[in-house]
Amino acid sequence: MNEHNIIRRQQLQNMKYNLIAFTIIFISFGLIIFAQIRESVYTKLDSELYNSLGTIKSFVLDQNFNLKRPDEGLRPRGNAAINIRSPRIIPILRARDGSIINFGSVNDSYYDQYLKYIEFDKEKLNRIVSISIRDQYYFRSITTNVGTDAGEELYMQLVINSDGERNLLQHTSFILIVGVIIFSIMSILASLILSQITMKPVKKSWSRQVEFVENVSHELRTPLTIIQNSLELLLTSPEDKIIDRSESIAIALDETSWLSRLITDMLTLARSDSTMTEIHKDLFSLDALVETVCQPYMDLAESQNKVLEVNLHCPMNINADKSRIHQLLVILLDNALKYTDEKDRISVDTNIKDNKAVITVSDTGMGISDENIDKIFDRFFREDKARSRERGGMGLGLSIADWIVGRHGGTIKVTHNEPKGSIFTIKLSKG
Ligand code: ADP
Repeated sequence: MNEHNIIRRQQLQNMKYNLIAFTIIFISFGLIIFAQIRESVYTKLDSELYNSLGTIKSFVLDQNFNLKRPDEGLRPRGNAAINIRSPRIIPILRARDGSIINFGSVNDSYYDQYLKYIEFDKEKLNRIVSISIRDQYYFRSITTNVGTDAGEELYMQLVINSDGERNLLQHTSFILIVGVIIFSIMSILASLILSQITMKPVKKSWSRQVEFVENVSHELRTPLTIIQNSLELLLTSPEDKIIDRSESIAIALDETSWLSRLITDMLTLARSDSTMTEIHKDLFSLDALVETVCQPYMDLAESQNKVLEVNLHCPMNINADKSRIHQLLVILLDNALKYTDEKDRISVDTNIKDNKAVITVSDTGMGISDENIDKIFDRFFREDKARSRERGGMGLGLSIADWIVGRHGGTIKVTHNEPKGSIFTIKLSKG
C-alpha cells in the first residue's frame, strides 16, 4: 500500500470516528431535550390531576349518593356540582363495575362520544395513566377509591385531555429528528475538514520521515561501498604487509569515522524530532564560551592561511544549554572553515541588541547562491554535494544548528556577505 492510500485510509477512519462521535452527541442532545420537554409538559397536567384529587375525594365523601341504577342518570343528592379546580379536568364517578354514576352532570353528547369509552381499571389506583380513545384522543387519568355508599364501592376517575400536549411533543420530536439529521449531515462535512486538519501534521512528518530514510540510505551507501572496495582490495593480496596497503586501510578508516559522525548527527536529529533530547539550561558568560570555542579554530585558520578574528561585546550571562551552544558554534565555525579558501577572513562577533544576545559568524568564502539560501537548513541539503563531501560535509550540521537555536527560543538567519561570503546571525534571549 502506498503512502497516499495509507493516509487516505487513516483520514477516512478519523472521519468515521468524528462522525460517530458527533452523531452520538446530537442524538443524546435531542433525547435529553425531548425528555425534558415531555417531563415539564406532563408534570403540569399530572399535578393538576393530583391537586384536584384531594378536593374531589373529600367532596364526594361529604355527599350522600343515591345509588340506584347508574344508567338512570343518578347524581349526587341536591344536584351539587362536583367542585374541581381546573376547568380542563372531567371528574367521573364510577360504581364498582365501572359504570359512570355522574354522567348526567356532564354534557350528554360528550358522554356518548368520549366519556363512555374511557378505560377504567380498578387495579391502577392512585397513579397517573395515559388513556387513548380510538387512538385519536388522548387523556391523562387518575382513579381513586372514594369509599362506599349503600354497600356500593365508589371510584372517582379524573381525566384531563392531553391532545394539545401530545401534538406539541409530536411537533417537537419531528423538529428534533430533522435537526439531528441535518446536524449529522453537516457533521460529515465538519469531520471531513477536521480529519484533513488533523492529518496535515501526520502527512508532513510522514513525508519528512520517508525523505529522511531515503537520504540516510543514500548517505550510508557511499561510505559502505568505499569500505567494501578497500577491504576487497586487501583480500586480493593477503601476503602484502600493512604498510603496502596503508592507503586502502586509511580510506576505510576515514569512511568509518565519517559513518560514525553521520550516525551521531542522525541520532541527534531523530531525538530532536521525538523531543527526547532535554535541554539543560545554566547561567554562563556567552563571551567566555565563544572565546574558548574559537581558540583552537584560530590556530586551524592560521594553518590554512586564513584569518579568524573574534570580537566579543556581550558582557552578560545567558541562561542556555552550554554544551548545545558549544555544538552550535562548532557547526558554524566548521562550515566557515570548510567553505572558505586561503586568504579568506572569518569573523565571530557577539553583541547585545534589544536585550538579546547576538552571535554573528561571517566569512568571505564562497557564499551561498540566492536560489539555495532558503534550503540550507534542510536535512542533507548541500549546495554542491561532491564538493561539500570532499570537505567533510554531510548536510546535517545546519539542521542541528537550527534545532538548537529553536529549542532555545531564538532565531538563526543567513545572509550574503559583501562582496562575497555568508553571514550567520543568531539571536538568543537571555533565557
Ligand atoms: P555540511 O555538513 O554539508 O556543511 P550543513 O548543514 O552544515 O552541512 O550545511 C549545508 C550546506 O550549506 C553546505 O553543504 C553548504 O553548501 C552550505 N553552507 C553552510 N555553511 C556555509 C558557509 N559558511 N559558506 C557557504 N556555504 C555554506
